[in-house]
Amino acid sequence: MTNHNQFTKTISLEKYGIKNAKVNYQLSPEELQDITLKKGQGVEASTGALAVNTGEFTGRSPKDRFIVKDDITKDRVWWGPVNIPFDSDAFEKLYNKVSNYLSNKDIYVRDCYACADKDYQTNIRVINEYAWSNQFAYNMFLRPTEEELKDFSPEWTVINAPGFKANPQEDGTRQHNFAILDFTRKIALIGGTGYTGEIKKGIFSALNFMLPVFKETLPMHCSANIGKDGDTAIFFGLSGTGKTTLSTDPNRSLIGDDEHGWTKDNKVFNFEGGCYAKVIDLSREHEPEIYDAIKKGAILENVILDAAGHVDFADTSITENTRVSYPIDHIENIQLPSIGRDVKNVFFLTADAFGVIPPISKLTPSQAAYHFISGYTAKVAGTEAGVVEPEPSFSACFGAPFMPLHPAKYAEMLSEKMITSGVNFWLVNTGWTGGPYGVGTRMKLKYTRAMINAALNGDLGLYTYDKYHIHSVFGVAQPRECPGVPTSVLSPRTTWNNDDAYYKTAFKLTNAFRENFKKFEAHCSEEIRRGGPQRYTF
Ligand code: ATP
Ligand code: MN
Repeated sequence: MTNHNQFTKTISLEKYGIKNAKVNYQLSPEELQDITLKKGQGVEASTGALAVNTGEFTGRSPKDRFIVKDDITKDRVWWGPVNIPFDSDAFEKLYNKVSNYLSNKDIYVRDCYACADKDYQTNIRVINEYAWSNQFAYNMFLRPTEEELKDFSPEWTVINAPGFKANPQEDGTRQHNFAILDFTRKIALIGGTGYTGEIKKGIFSALNFMLPVFKETLPMHCSANIGKDGDTAIFFGLSGTGKTTLSTDPNRSLIGDDEHGWTKDNKVFNFEGGCYAKVIDLSREHEPEIYDAIKKGAILENVILDAAGHVDFADTSITENTRVSYPIDHIENIQLPSIGRDVKNVFFLTADAFGVIPPISKLTPSQAAYHFISGYTAKVAGTEAGVVEPEPSFSACFGAPFMPLHPAKYAEMLSEKMITSGVNFWLVNTGWTGGPYGVGTRMKLKYTRAMINAALNGDLGLYTYDKYHIHSVFGVAQPRECPGVPTSVLSPRTTWNNDDAYYKTAFKLTNAFRENFKKFEAHCSEEIRRGGPQRYTF
């Protein structure tokens, strides 16, 4: 890690309305960690990583994410329960309250940027109430050199005040916490929540609006890596489906963990400079790269440590969403700068808790578009006794909460890429096998890895009848054989050992798919509609 102790530049926050603050500008991660420990806001784990509790919120709060409705956004944003409008004057008032709140305090400021491709670089200033949140910004955004900092001018500003609580009656929020994007002022205003993911997802959402609208670039909620021959692979998927786990691969260089752009000249660049991995049940045996990345500089969130500072990764007493953030260079095999070309394979990851989607299958272009718009995964019931019914969950573009535009806009851009780049699309079920949640088991990580490797290496062969067969319900092409995977695992029906129950459950899921797709039908061509599961009446 570089130490910015020698750093001499100072900045004032008066222009933000933050008065008499003691500004801690561009502190090194070591300094921020020391401050956090001294203030009693965190402890050091045995590996040297910092461990913090994020407070009341241990995950994002999608119902409290707003977008200011203004001349830039009013006709472009897909308004609704995901993109909730916020009044511009109300924003101004709330902003003033927050800057008052931050006045006369110790404040942590960091200049950084998003987008690893210089043509798309978006400069960001992050202003934090807490030192550890500022260290999170160090980990997750791209880090400018001291030279680049000399005449750094921020385009977007993130103002992050976890200790500030809004008054919903006065402030126009739903409750005391909020994350609001203002595209005119170029501010992400976050208050009442200490969950760090709001900081990165705020900027992600801003880019997801700006890149397609102004730069003809498709933003994606995906991870990406690149093989020795320069072939790029992209992994889309909702939370917990395996983007971080599966892209971290010793044989392929990591481009990025969670957010990328696909440019009109077919480059794929990372928005971020770090990874934000789930650590629930993490083990060195199954995920050595991530496990070893949890060293000095990494920040663990909401984990339980013993007296010696050892983390108990199985402990979910604070949350199931335990996390670690670290700069991408904590992973050994990375691509620098974080840019790939030649996208050859795109994986749609789904954690199907119904256990009916094949563990890997190949998609036609219409199926790819259909599944991209559907964005299916499943939510599993909590751990309450007796509750074993999974619930289907659909999130357009595998990232609806972060997509300000209509999903059709992103889908159109992806369809265009399909036509121009000739990529292979795969649907991968990282969820259940041998029955639904409660009956079957989660797909073994080693099998999923083997299937992905086989797809990447071309071992699944050409898309022909002797290599594949068409699934009678989902219409996707299941490979008959895959090196390193027992053949029986490739056919979900076989793993159930009960055809009746299997088809019943599969139809239940296809009904949910069709129900969900209704709201997009008007915007989609016949070609895309044909990509869905077969129509069954029974
Ligand atoms: P987020 O968007 O929240 O960052 P993500 O898509 O990156 O989510 P991961 O962090 O990769 O999700 O989480 C996948 C989790 O599922 C990990 O805890 C991993 O160990 C576990 N897992 C179990 N079996 C599998 C499997 N077959 N494939 C992938 N992940 C698996
Ligand atoms: Mn992830």
